[in-house]
Amino acid sequence: MTFEPEKAQKALAAQGRDFYSRGWMLGTSGNLSIRVSAEGPIRMAITASGVDKGLLEPKNILLHSVDSENSYPDGQKPSAETVIHEAVYQSVANAQSVLHVHTVESTVVSLQAAETSGMSWVEFQGFEMIKGLGLWTSNAIAKVPVFENHGDVSLIADELRAYLDTAPNPLPLFLIRGHGLTAWGASLGEARRHLEIGHFLCACRVLHPS
Ligand SMILES: [Zn+2]
Repeated sequence: MTFEPEKAQKALAAQGRDFYSRGWMLGTSGNLSIRVSAEGPIRMAITASGVDKGLLEPKNILLHSVDSENSYPDGQKPSAETVIHEAVYQSVANAQSVLHVHTVESTVVSLQAAETSGMSWVEFQGFEMIKGLGLWTSNAIAKVPVFENHGDVSLIADELRAYLDTAPNPLPLFLIRGHGLTAWGASLGEARRHLEIGHFLCACRVLHPS
């Protein structure tokens, strides 16, 4: 589905202010995007770097094309983590929105990741809310990958891409160690729902660690 760029800019600015009011995007942290191109090279609307998310306006949402020259208004630059959004859109054909926030709970839980099969994971079991991630069987386990927080963000994107391109049924969310939570969906609403479920699960884990 094509998303009109102006509508995407408005929707993301409002979404950013909303997440800021929840305490999920403090200190200019986090980044949000919507894919605006239906086909061809990936084009997205994405939050500018270094903007206070409580004051986010449509002009702070930049149009960015992958693999082509971009120019951005008012000396703004897209988020330093744009490559992570690119990796999701490149690997998940139906992803239309990617939302990344630095919640306290997801940051704490990401530090508790355990390593199996060469990757780090946090597992959630016995929560009604995991049905919202498409896991309907009783006793299903939501196995959420936790990626290393490399200083070079492109390394995080490379590891994410490698995971998404080989995992049989990746859940629509992941953690970065000591950093935060990212979720995507086939619409902005679906991405927000997945993000809220991820937040809920992490908040439960913090309150009830075992
Ligand atoms: Zn971040």
